[in-house]
Amino acid sequence: MDLTKMTIKKMQKRLFGTNGVRGVIGKEITPDLALHIGKALGTMRPGRIAVGMDTRTSGPALSNALKAGLLAMGCDVVDCGILPTPALQYIVKEHFDGGAMITASHNPPEYNGVKIIEPDGTEMGDEETIRLEELIDDRTLPTKTWEDVGTEEAAPRLIDEYVRAIVNQFEGKPGKGMTVVVDPGSGPACQTTPAILQALGCRVLTINGIMDGTFPGRLPEPSLEGLKGLAALVVSSKAAFGVAHDGDADRAVFVDENGSFIEENQEFSLIAQHICRSQKGTIVTPVSTSQMAELVAQKEGCSVQYTPVGSIYVARTMRELIASGKPVIFGGEGNGGLIFPDHQFCRDGGMTAAMMVSLLSATGQSLSSLVTTLPQRHMIKDKISTPHGAQIIEKLTRQYAKESIDRTDGLKIKRENTWALIRASGTEPLIRIMVDADDEKSGLALYKEIKKQVLEIL
Ligand code: MG
Repeated sequence: MDLTKMTIKKMQKRLFGTNGVRGVIGKEITPDLALHIGKALGTMRPGRIAVGMDTRTSGPALSNALKAGLLAMGCDVVDCGILPTPALQYIVKEHFDGGAMITASHNPPEYNGVKIIEPDGTEMGDEETIRLEELIDDRTLPTKTWEDVGTEEAAPRLIDEYVRAIVNQFEGKPGKGMTVVVDPGSGPACQTTPAILQALGCRVLTINGIMDGTFPGRLPEPSLEGLKGLAALVVSSKAAFGVAHDGDADRAVFVDENGSFIEENQEFSLIAQHICRSQKGTIVTPVSTSQMAELVAQKEGCSVQYTPVGSIYVARTMRELIASGKPVIFGGEGNGGLIFPDHQFCRDGGMTAAMMVSLLSATGQSLSSLVTTLPQRHMIKDKISTPHGAQIIEKLTRQYAKESIDRTDGLKIKRENTWALIRASGTEPLIRIMVDADDEKSGLALYKEIKKQVLEIL
C-alpha cells in the first residue's frame, strides 16, 4: 500500500482556519456571524445538533445566535452548556448529527470563535468547510415556517458521559497514592479533569479551578509564565506532576515533580513510547513534530506516518489508515494536542492527563527521570516576513531537488535524523523555518544554510 497517496491535502479556506473560525469579539466575530453559521450548518446537517461553549464572557451571545440559526432551519438543538471541546466531540459522536463549539481555544479573552463538529466527532474537513463558507455567505437561505422550526433542550449533564468514557479506558485505580495538581486555567476542564483524575484514584489539587471568562489567574494559553503558580503548587504539595489545559482543554501540558515544564515534543514522545510498549502499529503526526517521536517509535518496533500541520489532518489520516486495515495506535501534535484512537479521533486534554497517570503508574518512575531517557534533540524556530512565501518555497524546492525532500506541507529537507521545514503562513505574510537536529551544531548549520538561501531569493 502506498501511504503517501493517503496523505490528506490541505485546501484554502476563506473564513475558517485550521481549527475553526476565530477572531476578536465585536470585530471579526459577532452574533450576526454566529447566526449565519447556525443557518449554514442547519442547512448542511439537518437533524439533532449539540451546541457547547467554553467559559468566555462572549460565549452566551454567540451561542444563542448560533442556536437561533439552527432552530430557524429546523434543527433540534441540544445545549450542552459549558464543556471542553473534546467532551462535546465525544457527545456528538455518541448521540448527535453534528455539533458547534463556541471557543477561541488558547487565544486571549477578547477572542472567540466556532469549531464545527461532524457526526463522527471530528472537526469538519476542508471540503465541507468550504461548502459551509458558501452557505454562510448566502443570505437568501429560507427559514422554516412555524410547524417546522426546531426544538431546544438543555443537556448539561451529558458531560458526565465523557468523564466516564475516559475513566473506563483504564483498569483499576492507577492513580492510587499519587498527588496531581490540575490547572484548568478557569476554563471548562474545571468540570472534567479533576473528576477524571479523582476517579482514577489520584489525590487532586487545583489552581485556577473556578470557571471564569475573565481568566483572572492566567491567560488561556498555558505558557511557561502562566504556569508558575502550577509549578509552585506541585513542588509544595509534593505532587507527581502538574497538568494544565488551554482554553477549551483539547490540549494538555505538564510540569514534572520539580515544577519544570515538559516540552510538548517530549510529552508526545513519552506517551508515544508508553503506548508503543503495549501495542504495535502506526503513530500519526504532522511534519512539524520532532524526530524524537519517530526515534522512540522505531526503537519499539512502531512506525510514523506524517501529515500536513493541523490536528484535523492527523485525525482524518488516522481514520483513513484504520479504514484501510492498518493498526493506528496513537496520534497528535507536538503542542500538547494528543489523539487516542481507542477513545476518540480528536485531541483530548482530559484523556492526555489520564494517560500521564497511567504512564507514571506503569513505569514507577518520576516524570523528570523519564524525560532524561528520551533522545536528545535541538530545535530552532524562526520566521521571516515576506508576502512571497509560496514562490520562495517553490524555488527552494528546485534548489534542493537532489536531496531527500518531503512536500506534505511546505518543504521538508531531510538529512539523516536532522531536518528543516519551511512553510508559508496561511494567515500572515511570513514564512516559518523550523529545524530539528541531533545536536546544536548540525541544527545551527542547517538553519543558517536555509536562512541564507531564503534571504538570497528575497
Ligand atoms: Mg484548544
